[in-house]
Amino acid sequence: MLFLEFARCCEEIEGLSGRLDMIDVISRALPGLSPEELPVFVRFIMGRIFPDWSARKLGIGPNLLYEAVGYVAGLKKDAVIEKINKTGDVGTAVEELLSKKSQISLSNQDLEIVDVYNKLISIAARSGATSQKEKIRMVKLLIGDARPLEGRYLARIMLEELRIGVGEGSVREAIAKAFSVDPALVEHAMQAINDLGEVARLARIGPEALRDVRITLFHPVRMMLAQQGSIAGMVQEHGEVAAEFKYDGSRFQFHKQGSTGKMYSRRLEEVSAALPDVIGLLLGSTTHDVILDGEVIAIKDERPMPFQSVLRRFRRRHDIAEAQEEIRMVPNVFDILYLDGKTVIDLPFLERRKILVEVVSQYVAPQVISADPQVIEQTYHDALAAGHEGIMIKVPDSAYTPGQRGKNWIKIKPEVDTLDLAVIGAEWGEGKRAHVFGSFLVACQDQGKIVPLSRVATGFSDEQLAEVYDLLRDKVISSAGKEVRFEPGLVFEVGYAELQVSPTYGAGFALRFPRFIRIRDDKDTTEIETLDSIKDRYQRQSKSAQAYTG
Ligand code: AMP
Repeated sequence: MLFLEFARCCEEIEGLSGRLDMIDVISRALPGLSPEELPVFVRFIMGRIFPDWSARKLGIGPNLLYEAVGYVAGLKKDAVIEKINKTGDVGTAVEELLSKKSQISLSNQDLEIVDVYNKLISIAARSGATSQKEKIRMVKLLIGDARPLEGRYLARIMLEELRIGVGEGSVREAIAKAFSVDPALVEHAMQAINDLGEVARLARIGPEALRDVRITLFHPVRMMLAQQGSIAGMVQEHGEVAAEFKYDGSRFQFHKQGSTGKMYSRRLEEVSAALPDVIGLLLGSTTHDVILDGEVIAIKDERPMPFQSVLRRFRRRHDIAEAQEEIRMVPNVFDILYLDGKTVIDLPFLERRKILVEVVSQYVAPQVISADPQVIEQTYHDALAAGHEGIMIKVPDSAYTPGQRGKNWIKIKPEVDTLDLAVIGAEWGEGKRAHVFGSFLVACQDQGKIVPLSRVATGFSDEQLAEVYDLLRDKVISSAGKEVRFEPGLVFEVGYAELQVSPTYGAGFALRFPRFIRIRDDKDTTEIETLDSIKDRYQRQSKSAQAYTG
């Protein structure tokens, strides 16, 4: 498939508003693709380059891209940024700039999607001292070969944000439709192998190939997530339930084969280098090949330390030995996904638990099983007294469902009003904070779109502002006066006193007394608060206000 055909397909989808129409366009494109093209098309159409299990990054920030586009278009970088500010979109800006250029020098080379993919892979593979120069040279060549419409989507793919409104769910349905297989099978295969490109390839072979998928060691699986709920509700619905402490640390997935162990974060990034001590502990706890799910916490004087100290370790690249002495990291394992070549996610939770206890000798999180709400309530109080966040209640016969925030895991913790929100913009600070960002524009999500909700300017220490600045300075996509906009990526946990209806920001709500609580670098923008849940909170808040006054 030519990259131009892919770009036309994106353009067609961009003009559609109905999800079913989008699915239709994608499903018609899939059967004609070669086995090599199929995975590339599927990833590209979602704005991705690498499989979801891979933490590989292209390593091209907006700045590098603008420089390359400027070079190709014969302009300064600032002129490119100005164009982006004017059009409000990188892709459209690149398209317009290339169409001016192409009047002079029309590229006559036809790009194939597999070519583009291979070039992006080799760009990503550059590392070391001269890598930036090499990368930019390669990006210039690639953009130089692109026609205007191709440039629009190429630029967006490079920033891994295609913005044509195609989510994973639509692509899953399109795959099922294109190859006449059950959508549930497609979803199940995706849960195990975490790469929709590969799933599409298997779907084409047939349902048996999809049914046969296994989890692969060292390809991290998405983590199962929890919802809010109540003890009474869970016991009423399920009778006997399992309760565990909810540890306030960082989620990990541990993969072990023989004497090799690797750790992955909740965002599926490999964090082995930062946690050699934890890997050592887990390697020593089992003789089997396993994938374990758990939470690592930091302990000092036998009490859990705040979550922030664990995250700091996850990010740490240097001086690990020194860090190990300061605080002790302890894993708490609560699930098993794979044992000696077998995928066990479909077994009921208590059967998985039985296996877990059999094969892992230490660090398995204690569990209480009961149908008595008072017993569960007591576990909750014990958890809080021991300095943990609360409890998790789990349904005994439930499967492990990767990536899903279902009703089979319920979290119970003291009511606090905080939201996880994406940082999408900022204003430069003033006075002694003039060299860092001072106030931030944060956003929730609605049907896959990022929607501004509030500004946050309080709650930061100078140290935190410097840290946030470091994390964001390469993410600037446009700037105007004191305002900058970022490529959404960083997530803040934001506290607030009350939700108010307000037309100021796109979401239709605003936060009263918003304050920064912490960076959630264990979460990405797919996990930020949804507008629906904010509406829900607003309604609950109004009800409790009525109960209070009335
Ligand atoms: P939340 O991040 O508030 O949605 O809560 C869910 C998170 O709690 C999981 O992603 C884990 O990181 C964490 N957690 C702590 N203890 C447990 C446990 N025993 N079982 C499952 N998740 C746990």
